[in-house]
Amino acid sequence: MKATQALPLQAIRLRPLSPCLEFTGYAAVMASAYDWLAHSLETLHQAHWYRSVQAVTSGPGPVIQIDGRWLINFASNDYLGLAGDRRLIEAAVAAIRTWGTGSTGSRLLSGHRPLHQDLETQIAALKQTEAAIAFSSGYLANLGTIAALVGQRDLILADRYNHASLKQGAKLSGARVIEYEHNNVLDLREKLQHRKRYRRCLIVSDSVFSMDGDLCPLPELLALGDTWNCMVLVDEAHATGVLGATGAGCVEAFGCTGRELVQVGTLSKALGSLGGYVAGSAKLIDYLRNRASSWIYTTALSPADTAAALAGILLVQAEPERREKLWQNTTRLKAQLLDLGADLLPSESPIIGLKLPNPERALQLSQTLKLAGIFAPAIRPPTVPTSRLRFSVMATHEPDRIDRLIAVLKAAKFGVAE
Ligand SMILES: *Cc1c(COP(=O)(O)O)cnc(C)c1O
Repeated sequence: MKATQALPLQAIRLRPLSPCLEFTGYAAVMASAYDWLAHSLETLHQAHWYRSVQAVTSGPGPVIQIDGRWLINFASNDYLGLAGDRRLIEAAVAAIRTWGTGSTGSRLLSGHRPLHQDLETQIAALKQTEAAIAFSSGYLANLGTIAALVGQRDLILADRYNHASLKQGAKLSGARVIEYEHNNVLDLREKLQHRKRYRRCLIVSDSVFSMDGDLCPLPELLALGDTWNCMVLVDEAHATGVLGATGAGCVEAFGCTGRELVQVGTLSKALGSLGGYVAGSAKLIDYLRNRASSWIYTTALSPADTAAALAGILLVQAEPERREKLWQNTTRLKAQLLDLGADLLPSESPIIGLKLPNPERALQLSQTLKLAGIFAPAIRPPTVPTSRLRFSVMATHEPDRIDRLIAVLKAAKFGVAE
C-alpha cells in the first residue's frame, strides 16, 4: 500500500459509544447531587462574602470603562502602566508573527523557544542571580517550587498573611506547615524550635504583602534561615519593578542582593504581561526544571506573553522615572488619606488599605466611590481577616485623579467622624 493512499474510514472508526441517557429514576423524590451548590451560594450571599466579576470594556490604564462608565482605576496591579504600553504590544505581536500563538507543548517536550531562554536570562540579570525559570503564572510558580523543595519529612514556617498560592503550595508539598504571626520575628523564632525534628525547613513569606502592602522583615528571615539551616522563599509578586533602585524588588531594597534564597514572582503585575518566575542559584533552577510539576507538565508560556514580559523587564530597568512617579503618587495618596484621618493598614508599597469595620461597610463605600467615578475594590474575608478598601497606585495616575479620590472620600463623609 502506498503511503499516500487513504486508509479505509472503517479502519479508524471508533467503537460505537453508548448514548448519555437522562436519569429519571428518583428525579421526583430525590435531591440532585448538585443541590448543595445553591445552598452554599446562599450562605456566601448572607455573609456578604459573595463575589462576582465585572467586565472592563476598555484597555488597561489609570482610567477604565466598566458597565459603560469611565472610572479612575485604583484596582490595578499594572503599577508602571506597562500592560498597555505600545512597546510591549509590538513585542507581543512580533512574537506571534514569528512563533505563532501557542507554544504547542511543555518546555521539556516541544515548547521551548529561544524567547523563553532570553526571558529567563533577563530575569536573572534583573535579580542578579545565577539563573531563573519562567512558569505559566506566579500561582503555578509557587505551587511547583514549594512542592519541589520540601516534602513529608520537612517543615514549612509560613507567615499567616501569605498569598493563597503560597498556602496552596505548602499544602501540596505534604510538609508540616506551621504558621507564625504576621511579620512577627519573635513568634517565628519560637516556632523554629520545631526545626530539629525535620529534615529540611523552608521559611515562606510574601515580600510585599498583597492585601496589606507592608514588607516582610527580610534581613531577619535570612538571618534566622542561616542560624537554623532553613531555606528562605520570598514572593516578590508586588515588589518586582516597584521596589529597589533598579526595580529588582524587596531583596534589592533591603540590600540583600546576592544572598542565597529562593525568589518567586510574577510577570503579570508591574511587568505588564502574564506568567511567573523563580530566580536563584543555577543548581536551584536546574533542580526545579527536573522536579517542579507545575513547570514540567504544563504548556510553555505563550510567545506573546514571553515577549511582552521580556520587553517589560527591559523597560523596568531603562525607565526608572516610572518607578519615581509611582512613589510620588503613593506618597501623595498616603499623605492625603492620613490628613483625612483615615485608619490605614501599615504599608510601605503602592498598596494602601483603608480599614473598615465590616464587609457591609466596605462594600457600601466601594459602591459609593463607584457611583462617583472611582474604582476601588472592597477586600473582605475569607481573602483577609478584616475588611478594607484597597487602593493600588499607578505611575500613570495623574495627580489630580488622586486628589479626586480624596475629594470623593471626603464627600462620602469619610474621615475622623467615622
Ligand atoms: C498575584 C500574586 C501571585 C499570583 O501571580 P499570578 O501570576 O497572577 O498567578 C502570587 N503571589 C502573590 C503574592 C501575588 O500577589
